[in-house]
Amino acid sequence: MTIVKVIVDVPASTINQTFDYAVPKNLEAIVQPGMRVVVPFGVRTITGFIVNFTKESEVENLKYIVEILDLTPVLTHELIRLGKWLADETLSLYITVFQAMLPQVFKSTYEKELIKLTDAHLPEDIENMFGDFDTVPYEAIEQAGVSYSSLQKCIEEGYLYVNYIVKSRVTKKYATFIKPQKPVHMLEEALLDLSQGAKKQREVLSFFIQMPQSIEQKTLLETLNTTTSPVKALSSKGLLSITREEVYRNPFDDDSIERTEPLALTDEQAKAIEPVKADLAEEKHRVHLIHGVTGSGKTEIYLQIIQDVIEQGKEAIVLVPEISLTPQMVRRFKGRFGKQVAVLHSALSAGEKYDEWRRIHQKTVNVVVGARSAVFAPFEHLGVIIIDEEHETTYKQEEQPRYHARDVAVYRGREHNCPVILGSATPSLESYARAQKGRYELAVLKERTNKQTMPDVNIVDMRNELHAGNRTMFSRELIDSTHTRIEQGEQIVLLLNRRGYSTFVMCRDCGHVSECPNCDIALTFHKNANRLKCHYCGYEEKVPLTCPACASDMIRYFGTGTQKVEEALVQLLPEARVIRMDVDTTRRKGSHERLLQKFGKQEADILLGTQMIAKGLDFKNVTLVGVLTADSMLHLPDFRSAEKTFQLLTQVSGRAGRHSLPGEVIVQTYTPEHYSIELASTYQFEAFYKREMMLRKTFQYPPFVFLALITISHPEKLKVVQTSQTIAGLLSKYTHEETTILGPTPSPIARMKNRFRYQCMVKYKYEPNLKQLIQKITRQFDRETTRGELMITVDMQPYQLM
Ligand code: ADP
Ligand code: ZN
Ligand code: ZN
Repeated sequence: MTIVKVIVDVPASTINQTFDYAVPKNLEAIVQPGMRVVVPFGVRTITGFIVNFTKESEVENLKYIVEILDLTPVLTHELIRLGKWLADETLSLYITVFQAMLPQVFKSTYEKELIKLTDAHLPEDIENMFGDFDTVPYEAIEQAGVSYSSLQKCIEEGYLYVNYIVKSRVTKKYATFIKPQKPVHMLEEALLDLSQGAKKQREVLSFFIQMPQSIEQKTLLETLNTTTSPVKALSSKGLLSITREEVYRNPFDDDSIERTEPLALTDEQAKAIEPVKADLAEEKHRVHLIHGVTGSGKTEIYLQIIQDVIEQGKEAIVLVPEISLTPQMVRRFKGRFGKQVAVLHSALSAGEKYDEWRRIHQKTVNVVVGARSAVFAPFEHLGVIIIDEEHETTYKQEEQPRYHARDVAVYRGREHNCPVILGSATPSLESYARAQKGRYELAVLKERTNKQTMPDVNIVDMRNELHAGNRTMFSRELIDSTHTRIEQGEQIVLLLNRRGYSTFVMCRDCGHVSECPNCDIALTFHKNANRLKCHYCGYEEKVPLTCPACASDMIRYFGTGTQKVEEALVQLLPEARVIRMDVDTTRRKGSHERLLQKFGKQEADILLGTQMIAKGLDFKNVTLVGVLTADSMLHLPDFRSAEKTFQLLTQVSGRAGRHSLPGEVIVQTYTPEHYSIELASTYQFEAFYKREMMLRKTFQYPPFVFLALITISHPEKLKVVQTSQTIAGLLSKYTHEETTILGPTPSPIARMKNRFRYQCMVKYKYEPNLKQLIQKITRQFDRETTRGELMITVDMQPYQLM
């Protein structure tokens, strides 16, 4: 009898182990680890992953596998091993890790069908099963009683494939879009005129008052849970327009991309690439950190290394942060390697993601460019893994499994004996420290390929502006300079270190700030709806006219959002054409790219936006970059805030003067003396590194110690306090003397969604059994956590401390 070990899809720590199942005779020849199966579990049948064979089982009366969901394994042997390691490292459930490695379609029970790709060589019973059709439902296999092993063979040889029928994948070139036909204030008037009975119409109209932009009808109806009739009614009143528009399906149209050839490397590039090539030739694993200023030709290095890898018959993974996964970036890889490149990013639909994944799985591509989860690409002959902008915190997943893509990359690099490359203009302190210690190979690129110097950075002290009577958010210098640039036909990028039209409301008399009653954070003011909203739980209320604390009417709005900046800009510079880019204007698929294209074609003078404009953009005509609020991150409760500020300022400065026109950067700040701002403005990475390392050492933060963050939440405060005290007590009892347990203290966001949150932080240098200890401690609360009242999350090496 064949017996397999299966990880079942029950996300609970009590079930986090393998279960043995017997394999029915007709499946014996084809089952392999990495396939998904349906198995009986208690009274139910559920899905799971085969992870191993076993000779014998201690279980009497073994149950049989009911069905196999894949005819070819979806997880390779290596990914199964990786999954086990990762689950142990991050204290996550095996099932959660396996699911995180695969496209979403594998998680839900989508319908499947078998598609015939050719008539040649099909065995008779399979031919008969298809009859006159090219496609049959997956269930037909069982009914027709064809042999699984011959099916499997046909799939392996590429005669058949299993297709997941994902609804959103139906090719539809056109879709219906709804957009407002009147300006917001007229919509607001119309809303007042609508009768109270017209509830649905009111909802739809309010929606557009809040988000006055075009939206696909389907999305609108789903979001508001309504039908087309209120939309039609509003359209007949001339308030909304209904149009059929082309849907932007493939943002990366391969055929329009011009092919590029390798460039002759500069001396610095050649020196950086040499040790990597040596590793490739020797099939040796090392981690290389390429510290190169923006524009120093790191991407060209990546491209030439990948070329070597492909010539060796191997595969490459390139990770880029989600927000710099811009069409410009993708085009550079497709331009060099054409159809050999798969792209994985979050803007793809479930079906499109599955399509890209399948191209990797079937080895029709050998390069994948993608965000964090692309590190799990099921390649079997990896030649290199590249992580661009390695310092970005988006490489850390902030939900289970809480993994860092860098750690996964290094694990896989070791397994495949291949180099891992980390590139950045501002390496993370962790990585740079490792390079200093000799654990990583360091290559430095100091010059831009065009020999342009980095643009001059002028720091403007906003306190002086205020004293001089300038109450706007733009310094005189920034406005003057912007003005001049526009006159010269040049372009400007303005960065606002914050998102949306978000301001908080404060009483000028008593300082009262309106906070969310559920979450203990300031409510955000949304002008269009004239309401205050909580970004964490969705709570909202009307803007108060008088202060709830002291009844003063001196209520004012503080902080700045992109929308507000745009309005102010237009007042100061009426002639400027502005493109605003933030989460609101880029929500729709393809809009990010359209806005950039517009800017690239110089149909606007100013690109105004949040962090998402800081990275990877390369426009010839941009000569001025302005940072409106350089210090807005400095005051967050996060020991990395200075590092993040330094990184962001360096990144944006790199956007100016990338080509022949010289660039200028203006940084506005209320704390010009802060070392992260001062040193970023003079491009002194080394000095920043030394200074920051000294502070980290003094206060014992990474990379001098490791951290584990345990967050405990519960609707009752007493329960949270008790539980976190118990946990902290056990932690200090069973850890080394030098290990510090901070807390329990309320989390920086002390309440979220009506749950009180407390945290304990473990700071340690050497604690080999910490993970087992934490697991043992949290297990004690299994009963309460399974019921869902108590929540305990563990984050090993946290990046988000809120
Ligand atoms: P980074 O990734 O470090 O920001 P890029 O690879 O984008 O730098 O290079 C910046 C610019 O220099 C690009 O326009 C690129 O085409 C060009 N470039 C890169 N390497 C070379 C080279 N060896 N010779 C000439 N131009 C180069
Ligand atoms: Zn007040
Ligand atoms: Zn809230």
